[in-house]
Order: sequence, then C-alpha cells, then structure tokens
Amino acid sequence: MEFSSRARQRHARLAGDRREQYPHSLQFYLEPPTESISLVEFESFAIDRLRLLKVIENLGVSYVRNSDVYKVKLEAELRKLKFPYRALAEDDYEARRKDHISHFILRLAYCQSEDLRRWFLQQEMDLFRYRFNELTESLMQKFLEHVNLSFEAIGEDLKNELANELSVSTPGFNLPKVKEQMFYKVGLADAVDLFRTRRVFIKDGFAYVPFKEIDVIVLNNYRTKLSKALALTARSLPSIQSDERLQPLLNHLSHSYVGPDYSVQKNTGKISLEQIDALSVKSFPLCMRQLHRALRDSHHLRHGGRMQYGLFLKGIGLTLEQALEFWKKEFIRGKVDADKFDKGYAYSIRHSYGKEGKRTDYTPYSCMKIIMSNPPSQGDYHGCPFRHSDPELLKQKLQSYKIPPSGIAQVLELVKGMHYQLACQKYFELTHDVDDIGFSLNHPNQYFTESQKLLSGGREPKKEFNNSGNFQQKNNSQESINSSSTPTSSNAKADTELEGLEAYFTED
Ligand code: SF4
Repeated sequence: MEFSSRARQRHARLAGDRREQYPHSLQFYLEPPTESISLVEFESFAIDRLRLLKVIENLGVSYVRNSDVYKVKLEAELRKLKFPYRALAEDDYEARRKDHISHFILRLAYCQSEDLRRWFLQQEMDLFRYRFNELTESLMQKFLEHVNLSFEAIGEDLKNELANELSVSTPGFNLPKVKEQMFYKVGLADAVDLFRTRRVFIKDGFAYVPFKEIDVIVLNNYRTKLSKALALTARSLPSIQSDERLQPLLNHLSHSYVGPDYSVQKNTGKISLEQIDALSVKSFPLCMRQLHRALRDSHHLRHGGRMQYGLFLKGIGLTLEQALEFWKKEFIRGKVDADKFDKGYAYSIRHSYGKEGKRTDYTPYSCMKIIMSNPPSQGDYHGCPFRHSDPELLKQKLQSYKIPPSGIAQVLELVKGMHYQLACQKYFELTHDVDDIGFSLNHPNQYFTESQKLLSGGREPKKEFNNSGNFQQKNNSQESINSSSTPTSSNAKADTELEGLEAYFTED
C-alpha cells in the first residue's frame, strides 16, 4: 500500500517535471536534453525521427503542403511513431520528450556536411510548419509568448486609421476582412519574406502582418535559429567524434535509411548469371545499370564500383560461387589474367561474403550511403547518377533509355531540388509505366525487389536454372522481404567494419 502510494507520488512528480519542461507540444529546440538515456533508446528515437523526416520529404514532393491529404498522412505517421501529433493533447509528455531528444540526436548526425544540414533543415521546417498550423489561435498565441515572439497586436483605432492602406497592401484583404482580422506590428527584420513578396503594409520600419501570415514570421525565425544551431553543433564535432560509443551510431544515422538491410540470405540462388544483362535493363536502378554497363564495356570496375555493385549483386541473390564466376569472366576479358584475379580480386569477393578476414556478412549499400559518401572521381562509375552526374549527362542518359521528354523534365526538376531518391522513384515510374510507385525508395535492392514484384504480377522473381545448371530448391522463393524492419546497431557495426573491408579493395 505504502509502496503504491509512493509510486504514485513519484509518478506525479515526474509528470509535473515534464509539464514544466515541455509546456507546449511544439518547440524551437533551444535547450539540449540533459538527462541520461540508454544507447538503445538513443538509437530507437533517432531511427524513428529519421523515418518521420523521410516520410515528410516524400509527402512534400507528392502532395501540396498543408493540403488535406498531406495533413492526414503526416498525422498518421506521427501517431504511428508516437511523436506529438495533435497540439491539443495535454498528456503527451512522453511524446514531447521523444520529439525533443530525437531532434537533438539527428542534429548531431546531420550537422556533419552541407548536404546533410540542408536536408535536415528542410524536413524539420516542414514538420514545424505543419505542427504550427495545426495549433488553435490561442495555442499559437501561447507558443509565441513562450518563444519570445509575442508581437504587438494593433488596437482597433490604429487599424481603422490604416484600414485603406492595409487593404491595398495585403493581398486577399478587402475592407471588411481587414476589420475582422487581427494585425500585428512586426519589426522589418522579422518580416523580410513578406516584405520581399509585397504581402504586407510597411510604415516607419514596421510591417503590419495579418494573423494568417504570422506562420511565415515564425518559420523564418525558426529557420535562422536552427541553421545557426547546426553550424554551432558542427563546430563541436571533433569532441563528439572522439566518443567511441557515439561516433559509429551517428555515422550510421547520417548514412542511414529506414528499411530492411537486404542481406543475402533472403534471396540467395534466385538469379542466374545469364539473366543479369536483361535484369539490368528492366529492374536495376540507374546507379546499378550504369555500373553494369561500364563493367561490360571496359571489363573492369575500380574499387568503389566493385564494392557498390558487388554487394548489390549479392543482395539480389548471387551466391559466392556465382559472384566469383561473374567477376572473373568479365575481368579476364580485360587486362587482368586469371592468376592475378584468383590471387587478388577473388579474396576480396570471398571477404565481402564473410568467408575471409573478420567474416562479417556485409550488407548492400543503401541510397543514403551511396549518395552521401565516397563521391566518384574521374574514371569511377559508382555513386548515384541523380546526385553525382552532371545534369546534362543525366539528361542524355535518360534520353538514350527512351524516357519521354516530359518525364526527363520531371526527373531533372527533382534533381535540381536535391530530391535524388524521389528522382529515382520517378525514373522507376517512368520505366515501369506506373503512376504511383507505391513505396518510399531507400535502397537499390528495394528498387530491384519492387520492380520484380511488379513485373511478375506481385510475386517474387521466378526461380531459374542457376549457373551450374541445377534447379534451385523451392523454399528460398517463399521468403518475402519484410519492408517494415528497421536497421539496428548491428547494421551500424557492419558499416563501421566495412571501412576495414574497403582496404582490401584498394587495388585498381
Ligand atoms: Fe541508386 Fe538510390 Fe540513387 Fe536510385 S536513388 S540511383 S537506387 S543510389
């Protein structure tokens, strides 16, 4: 009895603390969390937020922001991942805590380069915009006071005096509308965007902003704060990088994606070597199609290409024996003789299948890893063509693949906006003649699997004769890929160890 009463008191105290710590479901994330959390919670919070930001990126391109369907889908995701999803909910302190901590973890992971910072900022801004616009007027007011953005609402007398100017200078505001809406007097520096687009009345160094436009001011303010904070966090990176527990996790997160790891066990033996040329045209994403073409043309790939393409082929189901035969056949048609291949390259291939060295079973690279790390240089064919190719060359390549001009224009527009995976999704739609890809692309092997499913009418790729002429056993084909699985620390471990593996691939 006494125990339960004490437990209740403790619970009440905790709830009280949280209420003070998180008075609003929305935050500017000004104070970093100070509590201790386990590495397991650290990683799961970070992965959930990453998943949320990826959904936001996809929704932002597929739907008009703030349209009903955009809001419904985003709310469903927030609910599912247990982030605050409704501003009015009073008892979501656990969700607010998760929101706070996960934001700061990803801030650490995504401050590491200009590209990462830009991506993170964009998605966080979209999330903030949605949440702010969901607030009731009184909650907006409370939030503005909380973050010291309490702008002065002008009195009725002044509004009547300025009514004509307000109506003429504020698009969509006739005189009756001016009368019914609240206007705020805001310093010009805070209203630059509205001023630049001629959406507000300016007088004596102040902008007169209608309530419905106040989100532009708040977002501007948030963007400035977050971008400064990211730059500051980047400066403290050296001390973070010296932490042996955190660094692998953060690196993994910034190269991460949310989805299955496409490890080989699920597909082994489903593909014959004779199928690869045809599959490369029908079902390979552009990055792998490019690598395959380069390999067939020059009978060689440099180590970045061998790593990226070799692990992809492993993921689609090539056995170790098939991989050895595939690479050897091609390399000895070029400048490498069989002896050199057996002594050097064969070792690396066995290593990537976990048969040499540390015996790690390496997983194929995700899109994020390909896009964010090891950019190709002269003579390389690895990387993501949507990220790393010159747009003119990309255009020519797409033309040569018979993509219609309107489709090419859409792809290039997405590339211009730095939505590389969405450009790849568009490429999938265009090459498979579907209107909606129906999944969020994160991995080249996911592209392959989805393509095969589609081309075979929803089934896994059919079994074929393997290269030794034996028909494969049926049980492999029954396994399906679980698209909701989540990367775990073991992936992070594999990624870290992969750096060691790359040393074995340095021979050109
Ligand atoms: Fe390959 Fe991913 Fe780039 Fe598509 S988005 S080309 S799958 S790396």
